Amino acid sequence: MKTAYISHPDCFKHNMGPYHPESPHRLTAIENALHTSQLWPHLYHYDAPLACIEQLACVHTPSYIESILATSPTTGQVALDADTSMNPHTLNAALRAAGAAILATDLVLTGEMDNAFCAIRPPGHHAESERAMGFCLFNNVAVGSAHAIEQHHLQRIAILDFDVHHGNGTEEIFHANPHVMLCSIFQHPFYPYCDASSTTDRMINVPLPRGSDGKAFRQAIIDHWLPPLTLFQPQMIFVSAGFDAHRDDDMSQLLLNDDDYAWISQQIRTIADRYAQGRIVSVLEGGYEPESLGRCVTAHIRSLLTDQNSITDQ
Ligand SMILES: [Zn+2]
Repeated sequence: MKTAYISHPDCFKHNMGPYHPESPHRLTAIENALHTSQLWPHLYHYDAPLACIEQLACVHTPSYIESILATSPTTGQVALDADTSMNPHTLNAALRAAGAAILATDLVLTGEMDNAFCAIRPPGHHAESERAMGFCLFNNVAVGSAHAIEQHHLQRIAILDFDVHHGNGTEEIFHANPHVMLCSIFQHPFYPYCDASSTTDRMINVPLPRGSDGKAFRQAIIDHWLPPLTLFQPQMIFVSAGFDAHRDDDMSQLLLNDDDYAWISQQIRTIADRYAQGRIVSVLEGGYEPESLGRCVTAHIRSLLTDQNSITDQ
């Protein structure tokens, strides 16, 4: 398989302070793990371009985009919400994070790559059409999905979100869009404290109580994600890939382990191969414990790289 790995040095320069969990060290941990695992040379490496205003405007309001551009500081930090801020490098990092999803979508839909992983920050799935929150400025996975619909004319996109937090921004952006199914699984009640019910038959919310382990996680995926995906038959899969439900990550109280991340990644491959010609664009969201983040992203990318014939269907 040809797997693109899309990142950019600007994404390392966005920094919200020395004690903030969403730190540049996350990307360093991922790169180190990919080198250690010897997957690095098997990936096709791309620099993320800057998303343009028109691409962002498919999912964000013009006034919101203008406010982010106007807020970008030349020195110091500016707070956007209680836990999200901008330094002088944040704007470019955020534009490249969204641009990575655009490039990944183009690479996969032109057939140049089979699939792609965007190793970017800031993350995106909490960002709503006109609100930054929860470490997120632009909704990267939504920007890529809208690009696939509007520029490549796909009719059915599935966004699979296994971050431990509810992808409220993605839901807010796409809840009325008939071209998009969002399957989300998350700890509940938990940040961002939104309604966890499934508001339409395309917005599939699967809340898990604190303390849930991999067994409960896997069963919930089998029971609540796979049937609607089978009905919807997506033409392309986007992934909001968050690794903060790991038992070693103190951001949450779910108890997944490395094998659970390998399992969900293989499930996504199976769904993509069955319905979507294998087309997957995976975009980094959360994951704040460097060791488990590095290992689980490696397992995730190994599933993207591996020929499905050699994967055991679990
Ligand atoms: Zn998260």
